[in-house]
Amino acid sequence: MATHPRFGLCDSCVHQQLVHNTRGSTFSLCRRSREQPEYPRYPRVPVLECAGWEPRKGERT
Ligand code: SF4
Repeated sequence: MATHPRFGLCDSCVHQQLVHNTRGSTFSLCRRSREQPEYPRYPRVPVLECAGWEPRKGERT
């Protein structure tokens, strides 16, 4: 499994979805953007502050 760049808060957020392209790059997609337009589909990373952050199960807060 390839490592991916650090995306800040998104890396520990339940709403993150990692998207891989054919050239080997990895992008951090915010699934909140599907329902809530105030969240960009691909937030500018690293995300340092986000009101929508929710920890993944087992993630330390
Ligand atoms: S809700 Fe915030 S922290 Fe979570 S994936 Fe979206 S932009 Fe990242």
